[in-house]
Amino acid sequence: MVQRVCILGSTGSIGTSTLDVMALHPDRFQVWALTAHRRVDEMLAQCLQWRPRYAVMTDAAAGSRLRQLLREAGARTEVLDGPGALELVAAHPDVDTVMAAIVGAAGLAPCLAAARAGKKLLLANKEALVVGGALFLDAVKAGGARLLPIDSEHSAIFQCLPEDPQTWADRIDRIVLTASGGPFRDRDPASLVEVTPEQACAHPNWVMGRKISVDSATMMNKALEVIEARWLFDLSPERIEVLIHPQSIIHSMVVCRDHSVLAQLGTPDMKVPIAYGLAYPERIESGASRLDLTRTAALSFHEPDPQRFPGLGLAWEALAARHGTTAVLNAANEVAVAAFLDGTIRFDQIHTVNLRTLEAVLPEPGVRDSLEALLALDAQARRQAEATVLELSA
Ligand code: NAD
Ligand code: MG
Repeated sequence: MVQRVCILGSTGSIGTSTLDVMALHPDRFQVWALTAHRRVDEMLAQCLQWRPRYAVMTDAAAGSRLRQLLREAGARTEVLDGPGALELVAAHPDVDTVMAAIVGAAGLAPCLAAARAGKKLLLANKEALVVGGALFLDAVKAGGARLLPIDSEHSAIFQCLPEDPQTWADRIDRIVLTASGGPFRDRDPASLVEVTPEQACAHPNWVMGRKISVDSATMMNKALEVIEARWLFDLSPERIEVLIHPQSIIHSMVVCRDHSVLAQLGTPDMKVPIAYGLAYPERIESGASRLDLTRTAALSFHEPDPQRFPGLGLAWEALAARHGTTAVLNAANEVAVAAFLDGTIRFDQIHTVNLRTLEAVLPEPGVRDSLEALLALDAQARRQAEATVLELSA
C-alpha cells in the first residue's frame, strides 16, 4: 500500500532530503502535505513538483502569497495557514506517516497531534522531545503511534537494538553517542570569542540547517541528543556517554551487558536514517553514497574537552534537575543561537545565556502533564534569555 506522507518543515535540510528519498520510490510513497514557515519560492516549487493535497505556511502573509501563486499556476493544492494548521495536517486521517523536520520547540504541538492520532512519526525535530519529554511519550503511547528516530545517532542505536523495547533494559549497559566535534574541534578555546556565524555554520562533515550547525559547533546539539536518547531509549542519564569521532563514520554504539559493542556505520548522509524510518522495518535504496572502508581515513575517538565545550555537561545537569529544566535549556539555547546568528552576541556568549537562564527560571512542579504548562515555561525562559541577550549586547 502507498504510504501517504506529511512532511513538517519540508523546505529545510531534512525536509528536502526526505523528498529526495521519496523520489526514488514513487510506488511506495505519496506526498500528502507539506509545511514550511515562510520560504514561499521553495514551497511553490515543491507544490508544483509533488502536487500535495495541502500546503501549510505558518506565516500568514507567506500563506496568502503561496495561495495566489498556486492559483495562477493552476495547481489544486489547498493552502492553510494560521494556528492549528500544522496540527490539522499532522493528525489528518488520510495521513499514514509524519516526518517531523521543523526546527525548534515550534514543532512540539504538531508532533503531539501526530502522536495522539497514532501516526508513524519520524522524529528529526529533537527539540520537540527535549521540551515534551514524558508528555511526548505518553501521547505516543495513548495514540498507539510508532515513534522512529531520524537523528543519525539515535537511528544508529535503534538499528543496533532488537525490535521489542521490552528487551532493551536487560541488554544495554550504556550507549555511546558519537560526535564530530564540529568546526572548532581543534581550535584554541580562547579564540572562540571571535568566530563568525559563517565559520560556525561550516560543518566539516554534514550539510545542515543553520541552527543545528551552530549547535554542533557548541556541542549543544550533542547535549540535546543526550536528552533525546534518555527519552527514546528510557535510559538513566549516567548510561549515556559522548565520544568525539571526527570522521562521522560510526554513527553511535550500544555497549551490551556482556561488553559486546554494536555499532552502525555509514557515510555521513541523513538520507540513510530517513530511508530507514520511511521504509521501516524494510530496507530500501536511500540514494546515499556507499561506504568504502579502504578509502576511509583511520577512525579515531577521544573524550570531549569540557573547557572547549562547556554546554555539553548541561544535558546531565538539566536531566537531574526539576522536570521541565530541559525545556528551559532548549528555549534559552534557541534564543541564544538566533542572537548569535544575527550578530547580537558572541559565540562564547551562547553558553552564558544558557547558564543564566537555567539559574533564573525554575519550573513549577506539575509542568510535566500539560502542553500549555510546557509552552508557558518555554515562553518564560525565552523572555529571560532575551533579557540576558540584551544585557550582553548593551
Ligand atoms: P532547517 O532550518 O534546514 O529547516 C527547518 C524547517 O522548519 C524549514 O522547512 C522551515 O520552514 C521550518 N520552520 C522553521 N521555523 C518554523 C516555525 N517557527 N514554525 C513552523 N515551521 C518552521 O533545519 P534542519 O537542519 O532540516 O533541521 C530540522 C530538524 O531536524 C531540527 O530539529 C534538527 O535538529 C534536526 N536534525 C537535522 C539534521 C540535519 O542534518 N539537518 C540531522 C539531525 C537532526
Ligand atoms: Mg545527530
